[in-house]
Amino acid sequence: MDCIFCKIANGEIPSAKVYEDELCLAFKDIEPAAPVHILVVPKAHCASVLEADEAVLGHLMAVAAKVARENGVAEAGFRCVVNTGADGGQSVPHLHVHVLGGRSLAWPPG
Ligand code: AMP
Repeated sequence: MDCIFCKIANGEIPSAKVYEDELCLAFKDIEPAAPVHILVVPKAHCASVLEADEAVLGHLMAVAAKVARENGVAEAGFRCVVNTGADGGQSVPHLHVHVLGGRSLAWPPG
């Protein structure tokens, strides 16, 4: 399958990896929208949260919290975002959790 996050997960495309385990990978977003902007992605292809296994979803959120702690934004606060579909602004059709922090984030999103 021609999926950029599958290629990152299997090492075909390099990434700035910050965490990896048997189920998922976390790496820095190539176009950071905040001082800390990390993507947590499952290794097994899954197009979006609509198709995701419950255990995988729970694991991705636990890893999001872990990378937030390890990258110094847990205390000040951070945001986890899962864009889904066209109106949700999803541009890569492989499930991913954005972990954003390091500045005060506006709400609501645009
Ligand atoms: P979304 O728009 O929610 O689907 O998010 C996709 C994210 O993937 C965007 O923030 C992109 O900057 C990011 N992205 C795309 N290609 C890469 C890449 N090769 N390495 C790291 N991040 C990427």
